[in-house]
Amino acid sequence: MRTRLRRLPERGSHDWDVISAILDEALVCHVGFPGDGGAPVVIPTAHVRVGSMLYLHGAPASRMLRTVGSGVDVCVVATVLDGLVLARSLFHHSFNYRSVVAFGRAVEVVDLEEKRRALMGFAEHVLRGRSAEARQPSAGELKATRVLALRLDEASAKVRTGPPLDDAEDVALPIWAGVVPVGLGIGTVVAETPSLPLPASVRGAECDVRFGGRVFDAASSVENAG
Ligand SMILES: Cc1cc2nc3c(=O)[nH]c(=O)nc-3n(C[C@H](O)[C@H](O)[C@H](O)COP(=O)(O)OP(=O)(O)OC[C@H]3O[C@@H](n4cnc5c(N)ncnc54)[C@H](O)[C@@H]3O)c2cc1C
Repeated sequence: MRTRLRRLPERGSHDWDVISAILDEALVCHVGFPGDGGAPVVIPTAHVRVGSMLYLHGAPASRMLRTVGSGVDVCVVATVLDGLVLARSLFHHSFNYRSVVAFGRAVEVVDLEEKRRALMGFAEHVLRGRSAEARQPSAGELKATRVLALRLDEASAKVRTGPPLDDAEDVALPIWAGVVPVGLGIGTVVAETPSLPLPASVRGAECDVRFGGRVFDAASSVENAG
């Protein structure tokens, strides 16, 4: 089984709730696929999970979307970084993280309603509420966007939490050790439309779990997006 963790398996999980929560929290993923000549290529891109589907989207001319949509085996990775783990020894320095690896073959979404809902999902995944605030995609824009769906039936999660794991003989060394929490944060908003009030999606961003706040549920957001 491709998703059986061999290295530090105690950090692994195949729990759907763990996997889906990481995919929902990670803002971007990395898609690995065979490039020209078969050598591996890994491309960072946006994603959204809706139910058991992971959607990718972009320009029809994208090499990544063209290749991944052709039915080749792909591997998608999403990572959320939670902390810098500083050990007494350099050897035991690490990260606290939550990551997902998913394998499968994607298919192109041709059903216009599924495509439209997936595109709403991308906006909701970036910022909850945004899909209803912006102009909706025109028929031409829908046509100009390729959407791929990867069923998430072969995926694993790996999670590291907690303090550095120093060797016993190093614990007494007078060297600072500990965890520096890290995460995405909201910066100072730069308005392109200063005469307009901040929309609810932007005002709510600081509550978003990816920026330190509430849990995001892509599936219900898509349903609510109308
Ligand atoms: C931010 C970050 C930094 C890391 N830094 C390092 C590093 O510097 N050096 C290092 O060796 N490792 C690092 N790791 C761990 C790394 O992702 C691998 O888990 C590890 O290298 C073992 O790889 P492997 O191919 O031997 O795993 P194996 O256990 O052989 O992989 C088998 C299967 O387990 C699952 N799996 C493995 N790793 C992950 C994962 N991270 N998330 C979800 N599923 C997984 C996959 O389904 C994979 O096909 C880091 C992970 C993260 C998220």
